[in-house]
Amino acid sequence: MATQSTPELSKASNMEKCYENYILIDIGANLTNKKYSRDLDTVVQRAKDSGVQKIMVTGTSVKGSKEALRLTRIYPGTLYSTAGIHPHDAKSYDDDSWLELCKIAENPECVAIGECGLDFNRNFSDPEDQKTVFEKHIKLAIQHNKPLFVHERDAFDELMEIFNRYGNELPQVVIHCFTGTVEHALAYLNKGFYIGLTGYLCKDKSDTGVRKLLVDNLIPLDRLLVETDAPFMYPNTRASKLPIHVKDGLTERSTTFLHRYCTFQRNEPCSLPAIVEMVAAFMNKKPEEVALSTSFNAMKLFGLS
Ligand SMILES: [Zn+2]
Repeated sequence: MATQSTPELSKASNMEKCYENYILIDIGANLTNKKYSRDLDTVVQRAKDSGVQKIMVTGTSVKGSKEALRLTRIYPGTLYSTAGIHPHDAKSYDDDSWLELCKIAENPECVAIGECGLDFNRNFSDPEDQKTVFEKHIKLAIQHNKPLFVHERDAFDELMEIFNRYGNELPQVVIHCFTGTVEHALAYLNKGFYIGLTGYLCKDKSDTGVRKLLVDNLIPLDRLLVETDAPFMYPNTRASKLPIHVKDGLTERSTTFLHRYCTFQRNEPCSLPAIVEMVAAFMNKKPEEVALSTSFNAMKLFGLS
């Protein structure tokens, strides 16, 4: 018998669609990047349509942190900001502009200190300068009792050495865009840190990295956060190494947002539902569960309203 769609039925499926939408929080998007200067309104609206209700705009320099704070005023309740100097830019540090950053950090819309940390992968700034500037961020976070938004590449030992010196004084920490090994993740979790995951999981080809962490369920749901790192870290769901069951876990809805609006050149926060579905598929959990936990964690950790 052929089924015919009655008005009643399509109404019901519309209702279902409405509930299908996740409520997500992107804890790291570089919306001050000039790639968004012409259509930020559309990008933010698209994120909301996809289910991303709140976005934290990453500050990676004094100027960028000021701009990120400005954006929170234009989209109150939707955008929040962070204030920091990226390790790549540690060389640009000076005392006067640091005072400016401290002022930015006082604002309630600025919910974390960072992006800060150590990047010994490319060493765009001298490692010693990176360490000095990173410690200034730790002290600022302690002073304002705000979480630290940390970037680490090939600098695990040095980062831990610095963290260990602060003992119980250390504020809450999220290791953003985690790309390290299982061993490093466990060490971070052991210190009570949060782990931020991005579309990097499409790129991870190792047997001992992010995917392994998820498959073996090594990140407790109450320590997990999700982010796009847009315009970077495009989640390439067409990557050949991505397991079939993960590709199958993607809904039409999330892939429509991803493939229609995001590219390698410009990722957007509306790719977050696809990332959450892949994280969930790797963990063998329901995407709704990952969505709920990560949003709750972000609200709690960053004190979002
Ligand atoms: Zn980063």
